[in-house]
Amino acid sequence: MDCIFCKIVAGTIPAKKIREDDELVAFFDIDPKAPTHILVIPKKHIASLAQAEAGDAPLLGHLLEAAADIAREQGLAQGYRVVISTGPHGGQTVDHLHVHLLGGRQMHWPPG
Ligand code: AMP
Ligand code: ZN
Repeated sequence: MDCIFCKIVAGTIPAKKIREDDELVAFFDIDPKAPTHILVIPKKHIASLAQAEAGDAPLLGHLLEAAADIAREQGLAQGYRVVISTGPHGGQTVDHLHVHLLGGRQMHWPPG
């Protein structure tokens, strides 16, 4: 499968990984949009949130819990934003589900 995030999971392309367990990998975004910008991804290839199934609910919860724990570790005590871009209108550019963890600056609403 020609999926860049599956290759990061497999270790065949490099990434600055900060966490890995049986189900997920977290690494720094290559093109950060905030002082702290980390991606948390499932090891399992799920193309987007729209393709997640009921059985993926524990995995999705694990991704969010990991994002919150990494935010604590990164010292984002003032808060942060978690984003899951989904599909073309969601601005998704990599078709492997990923949770953006953005922090270290004031976020604004609405996002672009
Ligand atoms: P999205 O546009 O929401 O699908 O997010 C995809 C994110 O993946 C973007 O923020 C990219 O900067 C990031 N990205 C793409 N390729 C890599 C890579 N090789 N290593 C780390 N982050 C990447
Ligand atoms: Zn993948």
